[in-house]
Amino acid sequence: MTLSLPALPWEESALAPHISARTVNIHYGKHHAGYLKNLNSLLKESGQGDESLEDIIRSAAGDPERSGLFNNAAQVWNHTFYWQCLKPGGGGTPPETLSRLIERDLGGHEAFIAALTKAALGRFGSGWVWLVLDGAALRIIDTANADNPLALGMTPLLVIDLWEHAYYLDYQNRRKDYIEAIIGNLIDWDAVAERLASG
Ligand code: MN
Repeated sequence: MTLSLPALPWEESALAPHISARTVNIHYGKHHAGYLKNLNSLLKESGQGDESLEDIIRSAAGDPERSGLFNNAAQVWNHTFYWQCLKPGGGGTPPETLSRLIERDLGGHEAFIAALTKAALGRFGSGWVWLVLDGAALRIIDTANADNPLALGMTPLLVIDLWEHAYYLDYQNRRKDYIEAIIGNLIDWDAVAERLASG
């Protein structure tokens, strides 16, 4: 089985000035593509069959013998998902269906944004901050390195990449500015709400 790199949903320059074309070019073309290349080598070595990427993530999670497979599979999935969470002209407030759940589970939009930002800033080192469905409830979680909510039985709705490679060229050490730029300008809330409908 050989997996291919999904196309970006927009041009590399589409997220500028919030995320530069150079960052997208390197992040997608080197990091995301690099994880995919590693994953394909590992799948080839292991003679792995036709398991989906999601099944590979779920089955390899927590298995120390397959940590390389897990890390590369999850990083491929996480990055594809991250690109699908962003769009030029995003940000603002979520559609009504999602807003109602945010009100119910997370105390309303302002409290939600504050908690998402806090979790993103509180994650020490590399990782990801997520909005997930945990059972029927919305939750914000942050994960280390490649870790992914699928392995925890949760449904991912939104992710922001917290690895330095996601923001260093544009924001250097200022993770907060990157997070605020994404939340304010780039999150595709319609896509997030659609996942809620199909999840
Ligand atoms: Mn990344």
